[in-house]
Amino acid sequence: MKYSFKIGSVWGIPVELHITFILLLIIVAFFSAYYFLLIVCLFFFVTIHELSHSTVAKHYNIKVRKIVLYPIGGVSEIEEIPEKPGIEWRMAAAGPLVSFAIGLFLLALDQLIPIKLPFAEALPFVATARTLIYDLAILNLILGGFNLIPAFPMDGGRILRALLAEKMKFSDATKYAAFIGKILGILMALFGIWYNLWLVIIGIFIYIGATEETESTIISTTMARVRVKDVMYSEVASVKPETTLSEALEVMFKARYHDVLVEKDGVFQGIVTWNEIMKIKPEQRIQLRVEQLPMKQISVFSDESILEAYKIMLREKIDLVPVVERETPGKVVGVVTSESVAYAYEKAKALR
Ligand code: ZN
Repeated sequence: MKYSFKIGSVWGIPVELHITFILLLIIVAFFSAYYFLLIVCLFFFVTIHELSHSTVAKHYNIKVRKIVLYPIGGVSEIEEIPEKPGIEWRMAAAGPLVSFAIGLFLLALDQLIPIKLPFAEALPFVATARTLIYDLAILNLILGGFNLIPAFPMDGGRILRALLAEKMKFSDATKYAAFIGKILGILMALFGIWYNLWLVIIGIFIYIGATEETESTIISTTMARVRVKDVMYSEVASVKPETTLSEALEVMFKARYHDVLVEKDGVFQGIVTWNEIMKIKPEQRIQLRVEQLPMKQISVFSDESILEAYKIMLREKIDLVPVVERETPGKVVGVVTSESVAYAYEKAKALR
C-alpha cells in the first residue's frame, strides 16, 4: 500500500505528503480553523527544511530521489549516502540551520510588530496574525531542535555519524551512531510513560529508525565492496543480429535470461529488452530479426561494484547487464542478473 502521495515537485524532485500528515490535517480541520492554518503553514516550513538538505545535496551532485513530508519533519531519499563525512554533516546540518534561522526571523518579526504598528494591536486581525507568527516561530525552532537529536533518522544522527566517521570506518560510525540513537529512543520512551505519551511514540520511531539505518547502511556498504566479477555468470548466451525473435526467445529461455544479448563475430552489439520483444505479435516474431528492434548499449566493467550494475538494472528496467573488461569493452566476459545481485546481498550479509 502507498502511504504517501505526490503533491508536486520542486527542481525536478517529487515531493510527497505522508498519510499521517493528511490525517492530521483532516482531524485538526474538525476542531479549529486556526490549528488547520497552523499545520498548513508547518507543512510549508517542513518543505523548506527538506529543500535546504536538497540544495546542499545538489551542490555535491548527489541526486535526491524524492522528499516525503511527515508532521515531525521530512525525509529526503537520496540516491546514495555520501561516504565523505564532510559532505554528510553539511547536508544534514543545513535543514536544522534553516529552521532555526526562520524561527528566529519570525520571533524578531513578532517583536517588531508592536513597535512599528503601535495601535495595530487593537485590531483583531493583527492580534491573530501575531499569534500565528509567534506559534510558527516556535514550531520552526522545535523543528530545528528536534531534528538535531543525535539519533537516526533525525539529522542529528547523521551529523553524529559524520563526526564519528572522521575517526573510524563509515560502517563502524553507523553502528555507534545507531547504538546511541537506540539508547536515546529507549530513554525517551521510558520518560514518556511518565510525562508525555508523544515521547513514547517518538522514542519508538527513533528506535526503529536507528535499527533500519544500521541494517541498510551496513549491507549497502558491504555490498559496495562486492565486485561484479565475484558474482557474474561467465557463461554467456548471445544471439546474432540476424537471429529471428522466436529463436532469440528460445535462447533466452534456455539461458534463463530476461533480455537478449546481441553479439556479432564476438563483438558486443547491445541488449534487446524483453519489453521490446513482447511488443511484437507472436506470429511476427518468426520473421523479424533482433537487429530490427531498438538496442540498448549497456555494460559494466568487471572490477566495478555490484551496486553499479544494480543501479543500471533499476534505471533501464532490465535484468541482464553484460560485463566487459576495461581494456576490451567490445568483448563480453560475463553477465549479471538480479540473481547475481541477490547473491551479492547474501554474500554481503555474511561478510559484515
Ligand atoms: Zn532534516
